[in-house]
Amino acid sequence: MPTYAFRCPHCGGFDVIRPMREAGAPATCPECGTAARRVFESPALRAGDPRMRRALDASERSADEPAVVSSVPGRNRRATPISRDPRHARLPRP
Ligand SMILES: [Zn+2]
Repeated sequence: MPTYAFRCPHCGGFDVIRPMREAGAPATCPECGTAARRVFESPALRAGDPRMRRALDASERSADEPAVVSSVPGRNRRATPISRDPRHARLPRP
């Protein structure tokens, strides 16, 4: 069942889990019993695809504390292989 967010004018926000057919029904605050207004929040994207969750987490982290790197991230950069063939030593150099 989906979770719907409501806001009491006195106590603040609270969530109600109910069937979708009852989504538009009014809710009362569990603290004071006042009629609460439904509020719309962003969907729970974090519960979805793990790759998307990792990307969102990395994006959120880098927004506050950018990572200091010594090479281009995401590329597997290998050092230039060194040849041990003596004929290569006689090749012209730039
Ligand atoms: Zn209340």
